[in-house]
Amino acid sequence: MITHKEKIDVIAKQLKERTSTTPVSLKKKSVSHQVPKPGDKKYSDEKIDVSNLNEIISIDAEKRICVAEPGVTFVDLVEATMKHNLVPIIVPELKTITIGGAVAGCSIESMSFKHGGFHDTCLEYEIITAKGEIMVCTPDNEHQLIFQMIHGTFGTLGIISKLTFRLIPAKPFVKVTYERHMTLESYKASIWKHYQNQDVDFMDGIIHSPTRYVLSVANFVDHAPYTHSYDWMRIYHVSTRKRKEDYLKTPDYFFRYEKGVTNVSPKSFLGRLLFGKFINSTSVLRMVEKFQKIIPKDKIPITIDTFIPFSKVSEFMAWYGKSVNFFPLWCVPYKIVRKYEWLSDELLNKTEDDLFIDLAIYGMKKNKEIDYYKILEDKLLDIGAIKTLISTNSYSESDFWRVWNKENYTKVKSITDPQNIFRNLYTKMCT
Ligand SMILES: Cc1cc2nc3c(=O)[nH]c(=O)nc-3n(C[C@H](O)[C@H](O)[C@H](O)COP(=O)(O)OP(=O)(O)OC[C@H]3O[C@@H](n4cnc5c(N)ncnc54)[C@H](O)[C@@H]3O)c2cc1C
Repeated sequence: MITHKEKIDVIAKQLKERTSTTPVSLKKKSVSHQVPKPGDKKYSDEKIDVSNLNEIISIDAEKRICVAEPGVTFVDLVEATMKHNLVPIIVPELKTITIGGAVAGCSIESMSFKHGGFHDTCLEYEIITAKGEIMVCTPDNEHQLIFQMIHGTFGTLGIISKLTFRLIPAKPFVKVTYERHMTLESYKASIWKHYQNQDVDFMDGIIHSPTRYVLSVANFVDHAPYTHSYDWMRIYHVSTRKRKEDYLKTPDYFFRYEKGVTNVSPKSFLGRLLFGKFINSTSVLRMVEKFQKIIPKDKIPITIDTFIPFSKVSEFMAWYGKSVNFFPLWCVPYKIVRKYEWLSDELLNKTEDDLFIDLAIYGMKKNKEIDYYKILEDKLLDIGAIKTLISTNSYSESDFWRVWNKENYTKVKSITDPQNIFRNLYTKMCT
């Protein structure tokens, strides 16, 4: 058995001995959950191989703390922690998202209205810098700014090689109740009430149309009269239109969107009947990655996660109805648990809200006449909202740094990657 120390020493040595300053990309074992971009330099870059950093190092059931390597997938993590009646506090909905990717990129789900993102549940990161130095970063040691800036900087500030994070008690089943609303105002009022009262364990929803809003509120339960899973013929987001309530085994609840949030694969009944057991987000992303060179750019559907301050949701949706008008939307209330260091002062000064609503578009067709990415970015800038960088980004460099914090980013970059071999965040994600 190769130890964690031996694994990171190999990576550090490769970086220490490297004399070139040309950029590198990571080689991971599991598929990347970013919308493939034709021509992405990561396909041709020299690779730093982190593919064997995929073990759970320890689970302390008493302290409810887990230590694990970044390549551990959430499906494996949930399976291991459930043996102790515990789960990670934030479990992104797709099985093969990794904990390192969730911190370096983004992670949201139906406990985000209480806890923010997966990174907000982390206590410590071990980081390998571009020069092969190994750093331990916590929220209150001398590397606290590095700790805070690692989230959402997509590996451009260093390689996360180990994570320590909190767990939460879990029960074997989840009971979901579907609230129906016909207006945005009534939907928002209910979200606000649950947010204020903190009276449920989970909250997300699907906006099926401008007159059909479903809020899915759920709790852990010990027993279930029946259970459903959504791994073959049933489509979860469609079920929210029809059902009043549902029971799922806890892992099935976490991964209920595994076939796609609102853009399921396969789409047709026959396709699901024949291939539904074998096709899921992972296999679709793998296939797209494999054929990325020959897939026409305009065939890759639009995926956008917008984070709207709660007080701006009505204004945003009025604009959205006129300018985009694509439904269904996935809706995830998200608590901004601190004034994040990676957000610019301009953005932080624009809003008092600590509750944001993640409205996610999955699977919208591109339109030759309208650049939806661009018009959404402009509207988000206007109202002090943000988006994740997981797909196409067309921000100009000056607009980009109106949202992300250039000063903090540059400070950390000068310590962890002064020669810029992991690329600059703007260059990596927007050009
Ligand atoms: C179709 C689709 C659906 C999605 N659905 C959800 C969802 O339901 N819930 C949710 O929360 N998120 C969702 N996401 C977003 C997803 O969680 C993020 O894109 C996340 O960053 C993916 O993690 P990954 O493990 O696949 O990492 P990757 O995609 O492989 O990596 C993400 C970025 O992090 C960097 N990185 C990876 N590992 C490390 C490391 N060890 N150290 C430093 N940098 C690293 C990579 O270089 C890359 O830039 C979805 C994305 C897509 C494309």
